[in-house]
Amino acid sequence: MSAIIYPTTNLKATETLTLERGDGVYVYDNNGNKYLEGLAGLWCTSLGYNNRELIETVNEQLSTLCYSHMFGGKTHQVGMDLSDKLSAMLPVNNGKIFFGNSGSDANDSHIKMLRYYFNAIGKPEKRKIISRERAYHGVTVASAALTGLAPNHEHFDLPFEALGILRTDAPHYYRGALKGESEVQFVERITHNLEQLILKEGPETIAAFIAEPITGASGVIVPPKGYYEKVQAILNKYDILFWADEVITGFGRTGNDFGSTTMNIQSPDLMTLAKQLSSAYMPISAAVIKGDMYEAMIEPSSQVGVFGHGYTYSGHPTAAAVALKTLEIYERDNVFEKAADVGEYLQRRLAEFRDHPLVGEVRGAGLLAAVEFVANKSTGEAFNGGAIGAYAQQACQKHGLITRSVAGSSLAFCPPLIITLEQVDELIEKFSKGLQDTL
Ligand code: PLP
Repeated sequence: MSAIIYPTTNLKATETLTLERGDGVYVYDNNGNKYLEGLAGLWCTSLGYNNRELIETVNEQLSTLCYSHMFGGKTHQVGMDLSDKLSAMLPVNNGKIFFGNSGSDANDSHIKMLRYYFNAIGKPEKRKIISRERAYHGVTVASAALTGLAPNHEHFDLPFEALGILRTDAPHYYRGALKGESEVQFVERITHNLEQLILKEGPETIAAFIAEPITGASGVIVPPKGYYEKVQAILNKYDILFWADEVITGFGRTGNDFGSTTMNIQSPDLMTLAKQLSSAYMPISAAVIKGDMYEAMIEPSSQVGVFGHGYTYSGHPTAAAVALKTLEIYERDNVFEKAADVGEYLQRRLAEFRDHPLVGEVRGAGLLAAVEFVANKSTGEAFNGGAIGAYAQQACQKHGLITRSVAGSSLAFCPPLIITLEQVDELIEKFSKGLQDTL
């Protein structure tokens, strides 16, 4: 074993796979084995591996201005160009962008900006945030508290109360519906619960509701039709901001430009972006707020002298350059439109497994999907202990397919957006073999 403390890993475990290189949608290990990367790394390498344009962009930027910070308004053209291009493509009104390095730190930045904003407009008591069960929003102290998954909480003593984190239902009909409940009734019940929570806490104390339009790490939960319309109607009624965490669903992943578009979410007030923003060639994130919020924050910043929040690598020019090039390629090559077509095909092919004795639910949108395994198909009874997902992941890997076990008993698929129809067939064939070995 090396000296690495592996992230999100059972620390008792040994090293599992040593990758050496990648090309297109494939990666190769140190024994020369080839794998189809069915999870785009960690939901991020949208343009695949060894993209020469992105590599040349990084090299060029490194040799012109490898680093500069943005404190005090010190800036560079590539950062400004990226912010202009990004802001213009977002469904956030007159979006203003705070750059960071990861989805987690962007969510932390948002929590601080929410506090700053509500202090600025004279509503300091408006500070609680509603997050959902099974949400994933990152692992820094604040973003882990937003996350609704037990392993990210246990043994860490997170300050939920100090951060004002409230929890509401996960919108997963298959797992969360009561016996005999229709989808419409399910949506009615969980949005009623949301409204009751708001009333119990006091709407004047609640700043925002955060949601991944479609979840990732918790098993690709696609909420039933009408869910977000109801949620947004309630939030508007009580003057609570909608915060879309699009770290996975942003940039063509779900069959549209953003997950908010796919799920019919109207003008989010805040948006979190990372991963596919740079196709993962360099770490970069964006915490986006609507223009009105920014305007309100100007006055208190003048009083203090600064907006006292920033990272050494906020707006790192090399990350900015590769993100800008990534956005240009998305546009020039119609990557989102093509991914939407291939995504429909992936969903159709995965749906073929609905009758399989181990499969409880197949769900997803675009090039994001999950297959949930069950111990009893007719009752939906879950596997005890949840090791089935890890087992299936290993079995697929043996057949040359990398996927990811999520939420214990589901396998997630999130291939690079450049995957072709033929490569989807290959993915399905390898998955089928892995599933056969899991039986
Ligand atoms: N938000 C969502 C929806 C995510 O899926 C993730 C990571 O997977 C994060 C936030 C955290 O991002 P990072 O791992 O870059 O900190």
